Amino acid sequence: MKKIAIYPGSFDPITNGHIDLIHRASKLFDKVIIGITQNSKKSSFLSIDERIDAATTALKDVDNIEVLSFNTLLVDFANEQNVQVILRGLRAVSDFEYEFQLSGMNKHLNPNIETLFMTPAEQYANISSSLVREILSLGGDISVFVPKSVETLLKTKL
Ligand code: ADP
Repeated sequence: MKKIAIYPGSFDPITNGHIDLIHRASKLFDKVIIGITQNSKKSSFLSIDERIDAATTALKDVDNIEVLSFNTLLVDFANEQNVQVILRGLRAVSDFEYEFQLSGMNKHLNPNIETLFMTPAEQYANISSSLVREILSLGGDISVFVPKSVETLLKTKL
């Protein structure tokens, strides 16, 4: 059986922190699905198509990944895709409480799917999509936080 993990998130936009995690996860699993949420409650900066394109371009050198979007329950989508593992990133202690709650809820919803946490390389631990958007809106340099293709896309949105 193929070992497949899903890395779900808003990816609004995908950052070097996400990409670091995906590169390392791609060595542990046969396939990693980047599951981009079409979150109805949270309004996004980039459209779902832009977020899919940004992730696909940024990850074009990784063979065993697939970029998909979903708007159902994560555990249902994971089941549909034959996924055994939900992958989440932990940057700091502040991420822990929310992630712990989320993984507990998902375990109740489907006990067969495990949540696995990974930490990024140190230089990516402070990057968040929301801070990238904020720095961008204030005219700051985002080039160390996102790939060139994402920087270019974000600048066209201003
Ligand atoms: P969400 O809106 O679901 O939190 P995000 O796109 O912000 O989606 O993040 C998806 C996952 O990636 C989350 O588990 C988040 O903690 C993790 N993550 C975000 N930024 C980084 C980073 N710089 N390094 C490692 N993990 C990260």
